[in-house]
Formats: sequence, C-alpha cells, structure tokens
Amino acid sequence: MIVFILDHKFHFETENLCRLFFPNADIKLSYEYKETTDDFLYTEMISSEDAIVLKARIKVGESCHESELTIDEYSDEAAEYVLALCVYECLQKVTGYTPKWGLLTGVRPSKLMSKLIDQYGQDGARAYFIHKLLVSEQKTKLASTVCNVQKPIIDKNTPKSFSLYISIPFCPSRCSYCSFVSHSITSANAKKLFPEYLDKLIEELEITGKIAKDNALILESVYVGGGTPGILSAEQTVKLINAVKDNFEMSPCREFTFEAGRADVTTFEKLSVLSELGVDRISINPQTFDNSVLEEIGRKHTAQDAIEAYNCARQFDFNSINMDLIAGLPSDTVEGFKSSIDTAISLKPENITVHSLALKRSSNLVAKDNVSLAQDNSADKMIDYANEALSAAGYVPYYMYRQTRCVGNLENVG
Ligand code: SF4
Repeated sequence: MIVFILDHKFHFETENLCRLFFPNADIKLSYEYKETTDDFLYTEMISSEDAIVLKARIKVGESCHESELTIDEYSDEAAEYVLALCVYECLQKVTGYTPKWGLLTGVRPSKLMSKLIDQYGQDGARAYFIHKLLVSEQKTKLASTVCNVQKPIIDKNTPKSFSLYISIPFCPSRCSYCSFVSHSITSANAKKLFPEYLDKLIEELEITGKIAKDNALILESVYVGGGTPGILSAEQTVKLINAVKDNFEMSPCREFTFEAGRADVTTFEKLSVLSELGVDRISINPQTFDNSVLEEIGRKHTAQDAIEAYNCARQFDFNSINMDLIAGLPSDTVEGFKSSIDTAISLKPENITVHSLALKRSSNLVAKDNVSLAQDNSADKMIDYANEALSAAGYVPYYMYRQTRCVGNLENVG
C-alpha cells in the first residue's frame, strides 16, 4: 500500500494507524502524489489564512472513502489529532473493522491513562479515552485498572531509582514466531559465542555496578530475561547472580526475577540455585498447553514438561511464579487456547501473562501481505476469554503493553 504524505509531518502516526488495519502490508510512504492503480491512502494538510484543512482519501481494492476536517488555528497536537480522525475514518470504512484500542498506537495505554488521570481525574481520563481516542469501554477499563494497580508501586520510585535488565540471548531452539535477538544454541556459532558472552556480560555488570555506585543510584528490581536464561547451567547461573550481588547494592532491591523460561532446560538443580541465591520471582513459560501447537511453533518440550517444571518450582519458596501464554499461535484454536488458560489457572501461579502474538519481520513465520484484521477475530475471542476467566479466578491485571503487528491489535497483559 502506498501512503501519500502531502504538506504535513505526521507520517509516523499515519503509517502506524494504517498498520493497525493492515498489520502485514508492505507500506510505502511517498511525499509526492503520483497516479497509481495500487491500493493507497492519500493524506494532505492545506493551510490558508482562514483555516487549516486536513484530508484523507483511501482506495483499497474497489472500496474508496474520503474524509476532511478543519481546524481554525494550527498546533501540532490539533493537526495531528484531526488528521488521525480522518485517516481512521477512511480505514474503518474500507475495512469495516473497528480497533478496540481506537486511535491509540505505539504507546503504553496505562502510562497515557496515568498522565490523563493527573490532568482530568479518573472519570475525565476514562471519558478522554472513550470519546477522544475512540477506545472501547472494555479496553478503557483495562487501562484504568492497570494504571491504578501500578500507581502505589511506581510511587515508591525515587529519581535515583533504576532497574537492571540482563539478557541471555540464547535458546534451546528458535520458536517460529520469535522476533527477539536470540540464537539457537544448536548452531556451532552460538555454542562458541555462549561462554564468551557470559564473560563479557559479567564484565559489563562490573562496569554498570560502578556507574550505579558512583551516582548513588538505587536498584529497585532485577530481571534476567532473554532468550532463555534457563539455558545457563547451574554453575553459570551462580556465576551470573553472584556477579549481580557483588557489584550492586541489593538491599533496596524489591524484586529479582529470573526467566527460567522453557521446560526443556528447567531442572531441580537450577531452581534450587535460584532459590538459594535470593531470586524471588521466576517465570515458567508454557505458551500453550497444546502439544500439537508446541510442536508447530518449534518448542522442544511438551505441555506435561511445563507442568512438571512448575510443580518442581513449587517445592521452593519463590514469592511469585509467572506463566506466559500466547493468544493467536499458529494452528491454535479458540477452544485450545481456552483450555490452556484453564490449565494455567488450575496450577495457581501468582502471575499469568497473556501475550498476543506479534508477527515481526524477523520471525520465521511468513506473514501474509495485506491481510485485514477484520477477517479473523479468533485472537479477540481468546483474549476476551482470558480476561473473563482470569478475573473470575481472582487475577487482577497489573501490567500491560502493546506491540505493532499484533494479532487483532490486542495487548499483552500480566
Ligand atoms: S524461547 Fe522465547 S526468546 Fe527463545 S526462541 Fe522462543 S520465543 Fe524466542
């Protein structure tokens, strides 16, 4: 699809809105208009002494639509918003699709909600989401709940607070949907790199620890993610965690998370080491409890392996165990996903994080061009079920972010 950007600077917002409706389309921006038989979205700002006119026109297949709005006085904010309304209307008309997150693209909705609550109060912020940003009532409530749950935790931060994220970009195998920087340890190159990476990581922890001490920074949380940190041997895990403890002042640290990750690398010995060294939150990530889906996405473990890894972790006194599930995995069905949610709930982990599959260019899965999201709302049904079932089981959403190219334009919620 060609997106024409004429006489305005809001190409970023325009492209992102377009991607909401056509997540996998090959979108090309053009700053001058040329006749075309391809699908296109034309946007323009016309300024005169009396008013500023924002226009959008779209053609997708045989469907066309035009929208035009005027503002009296120019400001970046007003022009960007009004153009977004025109673009949104055009996209909505030609696809027949209404995104539940409305005009919101590329932001943490709860962060925006928090800013709006400070400005307009709880009711005003919710009204702004619904009426100005066209967010559905359901998603507005979700953003508002996450924001209010997070507030007392975030309020404890000081200007000197920081969090430490440590990445282990290696995995036992590459999942087909993965777009993270991570290497399958099965390759000779990765095998060779892995020990060297660990040494360099420890060097970097020493340097970063010194910077933190010199600046009297306060370590609030540590997260070891990846990749699959669980791929470290018990001995390497001790080396890494001791490097953190030796180089940072740990007394103010409120949470130390280690993504044990995949069941194919989780062992009693590693869990025991994590527990002894003071890690208080771990993640065991089944992604799905359907063996055929696990096989389809290239995971080398079964649903039962994930359950056994979880039960093994329960023998230790971690404060919190998280389980990740993904909605919209290839070959998964709504019924299959519901069953995965029910299984996760029956295990009673403290946290369950439900991701919506995001298909990035760097994943092995081939994304189809120009597929409109209106054609398949199964991910939507999955996420709706997750929200209902998890709420009924007493889980409260505490964390949320959105990604581009996410199935159904949905969100990831802890
Ligand atoms: S385990 Fe996670 S990081 Fe590793 S390949 Fe799979 S999705 Fe990517």
